[in-house]
Amino acid sequence: MTRSVLPAIALADASATAGPSPLGRPGLSGLPPNVLAAWLADRGEPSYRARQIADAVFGGTVASIEEIATLPVGLRRALTADFRFDTLVDTDVRVTDEGLTEKALHTLADGALIESVLMHYPQRRGARERHTLCISSQSGCAVGCPFCATGELGFGRDLQTAEIVDQVRFSSRRLIASGRRLTNIVFMGMGEPLLNLDRVLAAIEALNDPHRFGLGARHITVSTSGVVPGIRRLTALGPQFTLAISLHAARDPLRDVLVPLNRRWPVAEVVAAARDHGRATGRRISYEVTMISGVNDTDLDAQAMADLLRGDHAHVNLIPMNPVAHTPWTASPMPVIERFAATLEAAGIQTTIRRNRGQEVGAACGQLAAERAGEPPAPAVARRRSRLIAESAAALLGERSHEPVPAGVGD
Ligand code: SAH
Ligand code: SF4
Repeated sequence: MTRSVLPAIALADASATAGPSPLGRPGLSGLPPNVLAAWLADRGEPSYRARQIADAVFGGTVASIEEIATLPVGLRRALTADFRFDTLVDTDVRVTDEGLTEKALHTLADGALIESVLMHYPQRRGARERHTLCISSQSGCAVGCPFCATGELGFGRDLQTAEIVDQVRFSSRRLIASGRRLTNIVFMGMGEPLLNLDRVLAAIEALNDPHRFGLGARHITVSTSGVVPGIRRLTALGPQFTLAISLHAARDPLRDVLVPLNRRWPVAEVVAAARDHGRATGRRISYEVTMISGVNDTDLDAQAMADLLRGDHAHVNLIPMNPVAHTPWTASPMPVIERFAATLEAAGIQTTIRRNRGQEVGAACGQLAAERAGEPPAPAVARRRSRLIAESAAALLGERSHEPVPAGVGD
């Protein structure tokens, strides 16, 4: 049984009520129930039509508004004139890991590209089979973490609520067609979810609502690079989904380089906000650490992280860096990751080493979109590499970066 634990967010996408936009008509899956109810009432339609529409949109068996057989033809026409059944215009799917990872590159109405990754985890040792979808919240990202393909692409635009929800509908339809169902959703694709928080919350509400997608909030994880006001807002709302913090480093000089947002909200503030969130919601906080050889995997960094998180109800995931073009870096070797994990565990911090999925098709989101964008000029790539080497070397000596905060972040 699923239960809606999020407060009703009476928040329409601007596009749900505004006039023509370059994105076309609003997507049906992103309409807040009150907006759809008002639209139906305006046309003298009975209120139960809303349920019929939601069943069709989220049921996974109908491919267009015209096919919703439960609705009168006139209503189908009116809906088609005002809304879209799907906001994903085109999708290119690549399957890898012997069918265990399916990476999708979606094209939106204005040509913006986003990625989602479906990962299948077969049943094993008492653990049930899982199908986890990683979705995007923005096209590109303004935060600019240098080990991330999306960060290198820069910021495109915020996704609309329906564009977030439709990534889920896309994969859910594929799963339903093979007799399976989606079990988990993680906001770990392109973009910083807490910098598009209104739309992300509206999407989670649609995904969580038993009358719409109906996935329990405990099966939803939102990952953030550390937008402190966003974390505090989530704490005030009291939602029950899992919060994951992309930590990567416990020392400010290094985190300034790896997560440029750290210059605005330093690591101690991020962890304090996460700690408060954990206390207020009773949920364990997940920390993600992308392990980069010789950069953030030293004994000094392991000890700093152990000191920072000691005594917290936290879980740390150590993830070897996915190879990304245009960085000077590679993944930490497994023995180094194991040593790092041992330091954290000795401080009583639960730690898991994660295997990377779908490396050959670039499972770290942004890589397919980057391929489409084409190769940047070689001198620019060389400059970027040497800047990163210099910055991370300075960080090892404990110097804080004096680079400004990236434009468009956390204004
Ligand atoms: N912007 C949010 C959510 C999207 S990124 C955030 O940063 O948390 C999701 C996760 O993928 C983050 O933990 C990020 O650090 C990680 N990631 C990005 N590039 C990676 C790479 N090359 N290898 C491994 N993990 C990567
Ligand atoms: Fe943005 Fe997350 Fe990539 Fe950093 S890791 S650039 S916050 S998507």
